[in-house]
Amino acid sequence: MKGKNISTIDLLIETHLRLERQGPGSSEMTIKALNFLDNLNQISRVLDVGCGTGGQTMVLAQNVTGSIIGIDQFPDFINIFNDNTRKLNLAKRVNGIVAQMEDLPFQKEEFDLIWSEGVLGNVEKGLNCLNNFIKKSGYIVVTCPSWFTDERPEEIEKFWVNAGESLYTIGDNIGFMQKAGYHLIAAFSLPEKCWDNYYIPREAAEKEILEKHPENQVVEDYIKNSKYEIELYSKYKQYYGYVFYIGKKL
Ligand code: SAM
Repeated sequence: MKGKNISTIDLLIETHLRLERQGPGSSEMTIKALNFLDNLNQISRVLDVGCGTGGQTMVLAQNVTGSIIGIDQFPDFINIFNDNTRKLNLAKRVNGIVAQMEDLPFQKEEFDLIWSEGVLGNVEKGLNCLNNFIKKSGYIVVTCPSWFTDERPEEIEKFWVNAGESLYTIGDNIGFMQKAGYHLIAAFSLPEKCWDNYYIPREAAEKEILEKHPENQVVEDYIKNSKYEIELYSKYKQYYGYVFYIGKKL
C-alpha cells in the first residue's frame, strides 16, 4: 500500500482483500437462493458479476456442475479469486477475469444464469447491464440493498443518496424484474447475521490498517466513515437490508 498518498480506493481494496466476502451474505443464503433454480447441468454457463475475491462464487461452484466466470473491476480481487479456484481444485471450470459490468466481453444470450451479490443498487440498474446476456428461460439472481418500508428517516435516506446509490422498495425491485420480462421465482431478505459476517471482519481489518498507518488523515477519515455506516445499519436496520431477487427470463 502507498505511504502518504494513499487514496480511499486503495483503502477500500486493502480492507476488502483481507475478507472472505466483500459484502453482506453467507454460504447458507447463497445455497438457499440456488435451490430455487432448476435445469442447471454440466453444460450450463454461469456468470458471477462483481465477484470480488469469490466468496459466493466458490459456494456456487461447489453446488453447480457447469462452468462459471467471475468478473470484477479490481485486478487484486481477481488474482485472489483465481488463487482460490486453484486451491479448491475448481480452476478447470471456474475462471475470474477483470471486466466492467457496463462493458461485458460476452455474446448475447450466452449465460444460463447470471448471479450478482452486493453489487447492484437496484434490480433495474442490474438488468440494464445484464439482461442481454441471459438466455431465454435463463435466470437472474441478485442481491440489492432495498427499503423495507415506503417511508424512512431522512438520515438514512441521505446516507444512501450520498453514497451514490438509488435504493428502492422490494415491491419496486420486483416490478423492475417483471417489466424487463422476468417471472419472479422468489424474493427474500438476508438475515442480520449476514451483515455481521461482513461488518465484524471488516472492522478487524480496518483496525490493522489504522495501526499500519498512524496519524494518516485519509486513513482516519476512511475508518470514521466506515464506523458511521455500521452505526447507521444498527440504528435503522428495520428500514432496509439486502434482498435476494430470483427471476426467470420468459
Ligand atoms: N459479490 C462479492 C460479495 O458479495 O462478497 C463482492 C461484493 S462487493 C460489495 C461489490 C463488488 O463489485 C466489488 O468487488 C467491486 O469491485 C465490484 N464492482 C462494483 N462495480 C462494478 C462494476 N461496475 N464492474 C465490475 N465490478 C464492479
